[in-house]
Amino acid sequence: MQNLAALKEKLNLPKRIVITTHIKPDADALGSSLGLAGYLLKLGHQVCVITPTDYPDFLAWMDGNEDVMVFEGNEEKAQYLVENADLVFCLDFSSLSRIGELGEMVRKSEAEKVLIDHHLNPETFAQYVLWSTEAAATAELVFDLIEMLGDVDKITKAMAEALYAGLMTDTGNFKLPSTTPHVHNIVAALMELGADVSKVSHYVYDDNSLDRMKMLGFVLLERLEVIEGSSVAFFYLTLEDKKRFNYQTGDSEGLVNYGLAVKGVNVSAIFIEEEDKVKISFRSFGDIPINELSRKYFNGGGHKNAAGGTSFDDLKTTINKFKELVQGQIKELNYEA
Ligand code: 5GP
Repeated sequence: MQNLAALKEKLNLPKRIVITTHIKPDADALGSSLGLAGYLLKLGHQVCVITPTDYPDFLAWMDGNEDVMVFEGNEEKAQYLVENADLVFCLDFSSLSRIGELGEMVRKSEAEKVLIDHHLNPETFAQYVLWSTEAAATAELVFDLIEMLGDVDKITKAMAEALYAGLMTDTGNFKLPSTTPHVHNIVAALMELGADVSKVSHYVYDDNSLDRMKMLGFVLLERLEVIEGSSVAFFYLTLEDKKRFNYQTGDSEGLVNYGLAVKGVNVSAIFIEEEDKVKISFRSFGDIPINELSRKYFNGGGHKNAAGGTSFDDLKTTINKFKELVQGQIKELNYEA
């Protein structure tokens, strides 16, 4: 941690604090933000978590959810809070462009910034930085920070559960190579602090609408393909598919992993049509740096085995581009078709 002692001193007196995280927060983004918010509230600070956009309902069980401010629809209030904050914590993103319009407000604010993140290539805008691409989740880094500040005993059951949700999901249920002994040690500590891991898993994974389950069945039946001569699977969702299954924020979360579950497949992609763009999620197994493909060809980034990107071509053109890459240039990723 860069400037830990100075941050600790800063936190000795009550501060106005904003915590923010990336667009369409997932369980790690929200869990690490609410876990940290719980801790900072306990220290006596004024804290507001501002998310750039809404997030899935299956995260609404987290303690503090009801006080989260969604930027979209609350722009003026959010601007006031960011402008008048003493500290802005930026969690689970490495560049201010990942938080949309809120990014420029944070940049312009005179508040000191704290970056806590595990993505590649962090932008240098923060005075305090806890950053490691070795960390499995931002929740891991938040736990590490609280531990470095000597305050693990201040973690409540609710905070432990929010942090656990981040670790559970960002490690793909403790299956990804990022699942280290340190991760398991933190999980053990969170359980000792009261985290009900079975409950968290139930809330995150077993809270699907019937529409979502039917969409999953449809996608697996009608939209999943393995590209001929390759070990790459992909599928897609059109605007029409989304309408048919009453698509809600978060409904496509995790779908991409089903491609990797096909025998012999080690790269999976899902293309999700939006009004003005196509949002893409990529997953890979083993030594395939799928974030490089995403960064180079699809305006994206992320981690070696889990990345995302955006295409401004239409759905068909985007999928064809991907297929051509798989059949040709993807070899530059050390990928053996
Ligand atoms: P997901 O596929 O779950 O949306 O994202 C997987 C990983 O890729 C996450 O770490 C996420 O932050 C990152 N990611 C997703 N979309 C983008 C994007 O458009 N740009 C960048 N730089 N990273 C992304």
